[in-house]
Parts: sequence; C-alpha cells; structure tokens
Amino acid sequence: MHIIAQIIFFLLTATAVWFFSRKIMAIRRNILLGRDQQLNDRKPERWKNVLLLAFGQKKMFRNPLVAFLHLVIYLGFIIINIEVLEIVLDGLLGTHRLFAPYTGNAYTFLINSFELLAVGVITVCVIFLLRRNLVYVKRLWSKELDGWPRSDANYILITEILLMVLFLTMNATDTLLQQRSAPGYNAHPTGNFLFSSMIHPVLDGFSNATLIAMERTCWWLHIMGIFAFLNYLPWSKHLHILLAFPNAYYARLEPNGKMENMPEIQKEVLYAMAPETAPAAGAEQPHSKFGAKDVSDLSWKNLLDAYSCTECGRCTAACPANITGKKLSPRKIMMDTRDRLEVVGKSLDQKDKEPASGKTLLRDYITEEELRACTTCNACVQECPVSINPLDIILQLRRYLVMEESTAPAEWNSMFSNVENNFAPWKFSPDERDQWAHTNS
Ligand code: SF4
Ligand code: SF4
Repeated sequence: MHIIAQIIFFLLTATAVWFFSRKIMAIRRNILLGRDQQLNDRKPERWKNVLLLAFGQKKMFRNPLVAFLHLVIYLGFIIINIEVLEIVLDGLLGTHRLFAPYTGNAYTFLINSFELLAVGVITVCVIFLLRRNLVYVKRLWSKELDGWPRSDANYILITEILLMVLFLTMNATDTLLQQRSAPGYNAHPTGNFLFSSMIHPVLDGFSNATLIAMERTCWWLHIMGIFAFLNYLPWSKHLHILLAFPNAYYARLEPNGKMENMPEIQKEVLYAMAPETAPAAGAEQPHSKFGAKDVSDLSWKNLLDAYSCTECGRCTAACPANITGKKLSPRKIMMDTRDRLEVVGKSLDQKDKEPASGKTLLRDYITEEELRACTTCNACVQECPVSINPLDIILQLRRYLVMEESTAPAEWNSMFSNVENNFAPWKFSPDERDQWAHTNS
C-alpha cells in the first residue's frame, strides 16, 4: 500500500476513534449526572447475569425463532469484527491480509466462517427489514416509533447488509485475482472462500485492472462503513450492543416485586412510632427532595437503563395498562428519559445559562396521566431482554408528584390519610379493627 494511503488511513482511524471516544465520554458524563447508587455487592450473581442475560441472551430465547435470528446478527457483529483487526493492521502497516502467511489453512477456515456469518447476517437483516416494514407487528408500529426511531432501526439493518456485501465482494475479487495470477497483484495465497467465490461468474467478465480497483474500493468502503457505524452507534438505539453488558452486571438482584423503600420516610415513621429515637431538632440535615422530577434526580442506573434501551417494545407489549388502552408505554418512558438526558447533556456542553430550556422530565416529557396508569405489576421489568427497569423511573416520578407536590387523585388522598392516621387503607381506627369478630360472634 502506498505511504499516502497509509497516512490517510491513519488519519481516518484516529478521527473515527477520537469522535467515538468523545461521544462515549459525554454519555458517561450524562449517566453520572444521576444520583449515586451502590451496586457493587454480590459480584458472583452479577457476573452470572452478564453471562446469562447479556452473552447468553436468555430472555430472547422465550421466542426461539426470533432469538436465533437475533443471535446470527449478534455473532456476526462480534466475530466478523475480529476480521476488522486485520483490516486495521493492514491499513496502518501497508500490508495486504497480514495474517494469511502465518496462519495457513486456519486463515482459510476463519474467513470461510466469517463469510458464512456474513451470508447469515444479510439473510436475517432482510427478514428483519421485511418484518419491520411490511408485516404488522403491533409493538413495532406504535406511534412512539414514528420518525427517527423507525428510521434508526432501518438504517442499521441496511448498513449491516451493505457492510457484508462489501466484505464478500472484496473477498471474491481478491480470490479471482489470485486464481488469474494477475500481474502486479501481490496478494498472499489464501485458498478459496466458499461463499464469495459464488460471485466469481458475475466478475469473470471484468479485466484485472477493474478487479483490482473493485477490491480496493470495497476494502476502503468496508472499513469506512465500519468507522461510520462505530460513530453512529452512540446516537442510536443500537448502543445496547455495548451497554447490555454493564446493564446486566448492575441489574437489580432483589425479587421484582420487592419495592425499594425510601430510608428518609422509614426514619420518619420510626421517629413517629418511637419518638425517643428521633435526633434533636436541627441535628439531622433535612432531605432535599423526595422522588424525581428530572433526570438528575434519578439514579445513574436509571440513566444507564435509558441509554441501553433497544426500543424493542417487549415491555409495552406486556404492559396491562397499555394493553387496555391507557396512555402508558414503558418503552416511551425509557425513550423520553434518554431524550431528556441528551438535551440536558447538550446544554452542559454549551454551558447554557438556563440549563436544558427550563423543562423537566416530569410533565414536559412524561405526563401525570402516563404515570398514574401504571399498576406496578413489573411485567415490563420481567420482559426486558437487557435488564431495564422502567417501573423504577415511574415510581420515582410518582413519588415526586405525591410527596413533593401533594398531587394525587382524590381517591388516593383519602387512602393516604387513612394509612397515616389508621395504619391501614380503611377509615376505621386501629382500636376498632377487631370489632368485626365481635359483631359476627
Ligand atoms: S409495571 Fe407499570 S409500566 Fe410496567 S408493565 Fe406493569 S403497568 Fe406497565
Ligand atoms: S425497556 Fe427493555 S423491553 Fe422495553 S423497549 Fe427498552 S429494551 Fe425493549
């Protein structure tokens, strides 16, 4: 490879890595805007979750066909990227198929395996494109996916198809040139590649010079496409490819039905029941805020969840509130949280005097009507394949409404005052609680 090409390749790689790192650091900064939450306990269970839920995609296998198709794309993404290592080294060192002379038949076997995966990825991407755009799957046709989210899914599928086609065409031209022993083409013999060689009849009519130009063009477009994909990833729902792993590690380990208590409230109740345990007036810092009004009131895990959401809609498809026609969609809760966090992040980047246009997650993005529709059934948490907990965000926003703004439906208010005064949701005094037994005897 010409030295100029090496320099261009180096600059291209450095630019791609720099932009990618910059965006990843901005996402990390955004996630850390959240409240602190200690999630470093029970490490063996956490690693087990990473293996089962992230690597093993355990929840996907509830639907074996879709899980298998997803697995093909997933393996394609992970394993074919090993081949990218060789491409990057070739680009930087000015070599051509650097590993081929050292790995012999293993090289031929590996590239054949990558080609099998490439064909699989193309097939599955076409199936997913047809399913997304021509078949009516309710969760993929919801209004909340209109616009960018729907295009995002299509762009990625089309890009993956293009990358795989470039990879196969590059291999096909390379092996055809080797077979012809084309003068001036100094590639190390690689053996035959099963799938790309099927394209040889289509390429046979081209001259050696055209084939060399095609091979180089595919090589450059392939690696430029990968760099573009890398930089598109952090802007897309496909960020879950990376974040599914930390998200599985930090997933909640308690049973879904166990609601997180609020220590500040527990203390208040304790002081009411046992006043002698209460600290002297002014000895304790008053709590600044109950629940969450904006993204910075949520925990960093809630914000990591928002960036990890694949927008698959499995949560919404299982949500009883959504199924019965209520406005709530747990997927939208996650999308809104991410959108809001991105806006807050941008305003930090621009050092805005009025951060994020004075809006908040509560009401400007997620309405009271949505929050109140939640039955806290946990179906969304149960269904999510990437260990996301939309209910936790709903609960925190609802806690803010009730505890900071005293905004609750009238029916709830009477229940709250009963709990406060009678220690039960009913209006009877605790002293009268056993009277039913006497009345019936
Ligand atoms: S917990 Fe709430 S949001 Fe989640 S599925 Fe149940 S009703 Fe829907
Ligand atoms: S929260 Fe989970 S189940 Fe719901 S859309 Fe996001 S990834 Fe899918």
